[in-house]
Amino acid sequence: MAIKDKVIIITGASSGIGAATAKLLAQKGAKVVLAARREDKLQVLTKEITSKGGQASYQVTDVTSKTANEVLVQSALKKYGRVDTIFLNAGLMPSSRLSTLKTDEWDKMVDVNFKGVLNGIAAILPIFLKQNSGQIVVTSSVAGLKPYLNSGVYGATKHAIRDLMEVLRMEAATDGNNIRTTTIYPAAIQTELLDTVSDKQAAKALHKTYNNYQISPERIANAVAFAIDQPEDTDISELTIGPTKQPW
Ligand code: NDP
Repeated sequence: MAIKDKVIIITGASSGIGAATAKLLAQKGAKVVLAARREDKLQVLTKEITSKGGQASYQVTDVTSKTANEVLVQSALKKYGRVDTIFLNAGLMPSSRLSTLKTDEWDKMVDVNFKGVLNGIAAILPIFLKQNSGQIVVTSSVAGLKPYLNSGVYGATKHAIRDLMEVLRMEAATDGNNIRTTTIYPAAIQTELLDTVSDKQAAKALHKTYNNYQISPERIANAVAFAIDQPEDTDISELTIGPTKQPW
């Protein structure tokens, strides 16, 4: 089954990469279920998609809650009868040097970027195992491929995703349950992500990089659509996407 008519849950859908991906997939005929905390944004996006003839619904979700992830998956099942793909994309990047000891921000990154993904996997796996099919797409980062100054904890959460997703892929292949996994590694993409940076020194460095290089979140949406659009016997396990001019 190609993208058309697939039921696709997207977390972090209220802005940036998630919102751009939701629009593109809906345009290609998918039924998208949007999840994030800001209901006003989800409402506007749902309306935008449906007013253009697309199919979309939303569920307010805090990915740090196991129950909220279960409710999200159940709401998609109730509305559309199945789930084909889940795009676990919610994340934040309050970068800083480790020596600043912003431990509350460390906790938030672990809770959203890593545990949020675990919660999403735990909520969807029973459904995919029952269906004997499904696809889990997760947004890591180029900071999940190599270390960056100011990104000690952010990078650690994104490296953890890489390991987790590779084991999930190997498990799925050895169990023969037809579950496909895709990990996306974006570089500088123009979104609201830098709004989460509270440390002045880190913010200055990041704004400089992003102002020099950033590209549209639609580029990531294209990559996610490409991974979803493959025949069911083909797994695009990893994709790294960034500005041509950025030496990430
Ligand atoms: P945005 O800030 O635009 O989007 C982040 C999304 O995550 C928002 O929709 C936000 O929604 C959601 N979110 C944050 N916390 C929670 C939570 N507790 N529960 C549910 N949703 C939450 O940034 P991006 O689009 O850039 O970020 C998407 C992903 O891409 C992230 O995982 C990020 O790490 C990754 N990434 C981004 C890069 C970039 O350059 N932009 C580069 C590499 C990776 P709300 O606040 O409404 O809950």
